[in-house]
Amino acid sequence: MSPIEVNGRRYRPIAAPLVAVCVDGCEYEYLVEAAEAGATPFLAKLLAPGTAFIGDCVVPSFTNPNNLSIVTGVPPSVHGICGNYFYDREAGAEVMMNDPKYLRAGTILAAFSEAGAKVAVVTAKEKLRKLLGHRMRGICFSSEKAAEATLGENGIEDAVALAGMPVPSVYSAELSEFVFAAGVRLMETRRPDLMYLSTTDYIQHKFAPGSAGANAFYAMMDRYLARLDALGAVIALTADHGMNAKTRADGSPNVIYLQDAIDGWIGRERARVILPITDPYVVHHGALGSFATVYLDPAERDPVARKLAAMEGIDLVLDNATACRRFELPRDRMGDLVVVSAKHAVLGTSEARHDLSGLDAPLRSHGGVSEQRVPLLFNRRAGGVEGLRLRNFDLFDIALNRLEGER
Ligand SMILES: [Zn+2]
Repeated sequence: MSPIEVNGRRYRPIAAPLVAVCVDGCEYEYLVEAAEAGATPFLAKLLAPGTAFIGDCVVPSFTNPNNLSIVTGVPPSVHGICGNYFYDREAGAEVMMNDPKYLRAGTILAAFSEAGAKVAVVTAKEKLRKLLGHRMRGICFSSEKAAEATLGENGIEDAVALAGMPVPSVYSAELSEFVFAAGVRLMETRRPDLMYLSTTDYIQHKFAPGSAGANAFYAMMDRYLARLDALGAVIALTADHGMNAKTRADGSPNVIYLQDAIDGWIGRERARVILPITDPYVVHHGALGSFATVYLDPAERDPVARKLAAMEGIDLVLDNATACRRFELPRDRMGDLVVVSAKHAVLGTSEARHDLSGLDAPLRSHGGVSEQRVPLLFNRRAGGVEGLRLRNFDLFDIALNRLEGER
């Protein structure tokens, strides 16, 4: 096989089975703390110069934009997926962006499958499955809908039997464990050339690095990764985004309700606040994240921007062009203003529109620049990457082009 070019980047042919893992919400500290607690003997060995690096994810630091950047090797300005939701100005409607018709670039997974590689994708939530599997031949299913997997749609029909565990609740650590269990069984039974495993951040939304709940999750992950390593796979691990506490000193959620604030300044129904974190699974974060975009009349833009920038807990207020240049975002899917909150603050629309009753732990969330630092970890030494500004979407470049052969 000759090198494969995808979105202007070249990838060498696969020499050993490659397992790329996106650990949802994996702040680097989770790995360090779990290793120090002795919970992750395999990962602890990788946390060393030459195999462990820190890179930046895409902002907004949300799940879908980053998973799509990882599998395309490019930022959202190229692949088009910049959140779960955007406001379609022409249609005058808020639309979900989990349909492949919104994807503007091909994936590395599809390109390798096209070239004849055996490719498999397992993702925790169904919301990512169609995007990740777009134009890809091979196996592609979610833990969430594993019981409904068919040969025609998913390339596999015995996904639950394969994983060897029942289909878990969508709000559980087991939803991610199912991904790893299926991944190990696929490696044992079908040995894909290229596998992409993507988890969910249910645990990271609830538990801080070093807590018992977090360490137990990483211990589980460690056992499966050690097994993949023993099976001879190259492992390349990164995260879609980090995670921070978003609470006041008393533990209550530290929320800035943007729609309420703007309505108070210019009147109701003059501006529209979009939170691209919004998705059908909001129980664990109440649809609160650190990134918002605002649609409003050109005449109101600068005065509103100045008032927002003066609010405590808001770090950045940028116009569309500046934000899209800085964060490499598609201009037609962002509003007139982009707002990023501080490390321990989140952005809401109107207080009445957020149901926080499902929050059974102090709020932890993501979306901002403060959740941009993510790990890149390999079970082989990587050459020539020290000193570079790494992105999580350099994962396949490093895994396929820069790893040394020996373990
Ligand atoms: Zn995520």
